[in-house]
Amino acid sequence: MKKVSILGSTGSIGTQSLEVCEKHGFDVVALTAHSSVDMLEVQARKFRPQYVGIFNENLYSDMKNRLADTDIKILCGMDGLCEIASLDENDIVLNSVVGMVGLLPTLTAINAGKDIALANKETLVAGGELIMSLARKKNVKIYPVDSEHSAIFQCLQGNRREQLNKIILTASGGPFYGYSYEQLKNVTKADALHHPNWSMGNKITIDSATLMNKGLEFIEAKWLFDLNPEQIEIVVHRESVIHSAVEYKDYAVIAQLGVPDMKIPIQYALLYPERLECPTRPLSLTDYGTLTFAEPDYNTFRCLDSAIKAIKLGGAYPCLINSANEEAVKAFLNDEIKFIQIGEIVSSVLEKFRFSAVSGYNDVMRADSEAREYVRSLIG
Ligand code: MG
Repeated sequence: MKKVSILGSTGSIGTQSLEVCEKHGFDVVALTAHSSVDMLEVQARKFRPQYVGIFNENLYSDMKNRLADTDIKILCGMDGLCEIASLDENDIVLNSVVGMVGLLPTLTAINAGKDIALANKETLVAGGELIMSLARKKNVKIYPVDSEHSAIFQCLQGNRREQLNKIILTASGGPFYGYSYEQLKNVTKADALHHPNWSMGNKITIDSATLMNKGLEFIEAKWLFDLNPEQIEIVVHRESVIHSAVEYKDYAVIAQLGVPDMKIPIQYALLYPERLECPTRPLSLTDYGTLTFAEPDYNTFRCLDSAIKAIKLGGAYPCLINSANEEAVKAFLNDEIKFIQIGEIVSSVLEKFRFSAVSGYNDVMRADSEAREYVRSLIG
């Protein structure tokens, strides 16, 4: 059985990944969390990994005390995360940490020749070129965990990549589908945190409400599947049954369908190319009856528009808009700004910053801190 380390095991993807690991008896090598010591302790006692990592260094001794009666080694901080990402014992590293913090562990795991199941989309948005070129050099596989990218990956199986015309990236439209820009001005945090189809962490739920999530996925798809932006079409599909599709030269379109449950793409990434029973429920198309499709509203949902513009501009722009978004979402969740301001802030980045090239990790990190500083200065 595969040996797996899970970075971000207490989050939504992390806990669902552990359900998949349990179902198939995977050997869990290491688990890490940002600060959730209670849940991490429970997981550690259940799955008995060799290592546990706590990102927040202030919680290191707490974590060590909690697991003092076990022989589990406790690591902390970014160093701990990177050590876990590159452990010899790993067959595959599932990276489901939230945000830019995931970039260095991903690069470290690739450098150590470890295959990656990637749920941390921000790092591919910010460091796509770095990650993909290093993965090619090290002959490392990156398996998408995001449901849309898993769908595309599945639709590519058994077909020749050079015969692909384009991909169709589906979007649920989020809780504010059909809203005008005027209507978006009055939405609350509770409204934004209520997603119609998917149960996810707070950051991605807000990103789904602004449609930034789809913008990030557009960029993610560009890097994962080596596409031009013109080869990516976004279609709003409210039911989240078709998880994405691929169009070939003959205009045959192959789509992947299933209930909206992340355990299906998580399991495919971890078990690839095997297909075994998944701890979810089967899809009943007749329960849905009707599937609907529409074009996204790029004028109202400025984050989506800005993300597509950013990847077309290239250089540091994708990183800048991603980091600006992370900072703006944090401010929104802290009640410092209104929902509508997230889009205003993200789109202003494209005018505020001049083009700069990205040739290494340091360029990415510099763009990251410049964007965050800029957003903090706007919020005050
Ligand atoms: Mg997705």
